[in-house]
Amino acid sequence: MTPCSIAGSGPLPANRPEPCSQTTVLSSFQGFVGRALASAVGVFGILAAGAAQSSVFYVVPHQDDWQLFMGQNAYDDAAAGNKVVFIYLTAGDAGFRAGGYGSIPYYRAREEGAKDSTRLPAAMVQQQFPAEKWERVLVLGRRIMRWENRNTVSYFLRLPDGAPNGAGFESNFGQSLERFRLGFVSTIQSVDGVFQFRRYRELQDTIKEIIRVERGSQGEVWLNTHEYDTGLNPTHSDHREAGILCVRAGVSLGGVNFALWQDYITAEMPQNIGTRPLIHKAGMLGALNATLLRTGYWTTFEPGHQDWLPRNYFRIRGRNELLP
Ligand SMILES: [Zn+2]
Repeated sequence: MTPCSIAGSGPLPANRPEPCSQTTVLSSFQGFVGRALASAVGVFGILAAGAAQSSVFYVVPHQDDWQLFMGQNAYDDAAAGNKVVFIYLTAGDAGFRAGGYGSIPYYRAREEGAKDSTRLPAAMVQQQFPAEKWERVLVLGRRIMRWENRNTVSYFLRLPDGAPNGAGFESNFGQSLERFRLGFVSTIQSVDGVFQFRRYRELQDTIKEIIRVERGSQGEVWLNTHEYDTGLNPTHSDHREAGILCVRAGVSLGGVNFALWQDYITAEMPQNIGTRPLIHKAGMLGALNATLLRTGYWTTFEPGHQDWLPRNYFRIRGRNELLP
């Protein structure tokens, strides 16, 4: 694969308790003993040839974004034994906030679905790992949900779903990543009400801190996120905001590489992945949707979403590009 293939998302009040209530202070990652060599890490395997290990991040707004648009690389990164960290910026709550009509709140169903997607590649790693952990960790004073499963880590910030146009939902007081960045709302609060940000810089520093703590001490660091250039990627407001936030945080940290992914628009592009990656992506989206259906919600395992599965388009961000 060549690196530059760009040429080519009735509220119920049910607010169920979290499965865990512990808070752990976020501390430097201990590393996965005996991690497999980065021999098959998608495009990053090519770029990181010879490196003992890579830390690969996927910074997305919603719980199905990486599977749909970045799934080939994410699967390969995780299945090869690299440390893969998923950062979900919003609750993906679709305006339900902390409610929904299923057996659990909608955002929780989406989180559990995303976790189930992640289990598939992680199960490919031939290594013993500690039992999975689902807990709140303290990041710059805020208690953020963190899930660790085998060689993967997932953070769920649960900020309000901004809606495709970035206007947000009334149930979320019109809060969205875009409106917060532009100063149209003065605060943005997690839908579970656990924490809030009062300045965009605090949010940026939180992402930066997560990357700083979770990145490995050696090997390359890759940040995957959405393409924020609307000329290349006309998309959902939250997608664009994830790209902007991720790049600003990563640049301020330094020493990282960026892969910027096109998303909705790829449905109009030629199919460019093989049979096995397509099976991997379909499996992960299927796992997510099995969870959505089991908890009483609708499926996105339908033709419109399936059209994105055979496509994989991103570019490597130049080191001298201006900040978004
Ligand atoms: Zn999305």
